[in-house]
Amino acid sequence: MYPNELDDLVSRVRACQACANDLPFGPRPVLQVCETARILVASQAPGARVHASGVPFSDDSGARLRGWLGLTSDVFYDATRVAIVPMGFCYPGKKGGGDAPPRTECAGTWRSELLARMPELRLTLLVGTYAQIDALGPGRMIDRVRNFRDYLPRFFPLPHPSWRSRLWADQNPWFEREVLPVLRDAVQGALSQ
Ligand code: SF4
Repeated sequence: MYPNELDDLVSRVRACQACANDLPFGPRPVLQVCETARILVASQAPGARVHASGVPFSDDSGARLRGWLGLTSDVFYDATRVAIVPMGFCYPGKKGGGDAPPRTECAGTWRSELLARMPELRLTLLVGTYAQIDALGPGRMIDRVRNFRDYLPRFFPLPHPSWRSRLWADQNPWFEREVLPVLRDAVQGALSQ
């Protein structure tokens, strides 16, 4: 029925209702996958605008992230090259002054199965604290970003590109000066392998 295992798996993800009783806007998994993807964007969870559009990073955070990576929208949304698999696939709603943390159910139910079906991944961008803790264990985001070379060539830790990161980048000018040029090279290198 399905052309491959990954398509079958994605169909099951899109039908997932595991958190239906806890998601204020209901399940709407937002992700982008393909067996041939070279880069994985391991992000946090969709926000309200992404929940409405169903397109990952179709918001200001996405524009900022694409700028950091030096990628056009055409390349960023080319699933054969770039996979986008957040820690939580559905918009978790608000908590306090910002978005609630990503649901933890995705990691145990879907995430590792999806990643196992993308054998060509060369570089994983760990976007934000949740993805970094999942891949690397406990640690401070700023230390990991500053010491990004320790995690290459497999991982590249990054801050979450929310509006707060603009202030953060202003306070940490080494990020644009020292990290972004290497990030863009790493991205181009992974895409060309
Ligand atoms: S957040 Fe993940 S586990 Fe929960 S309903 Fe959405 S896809 Fe399913």
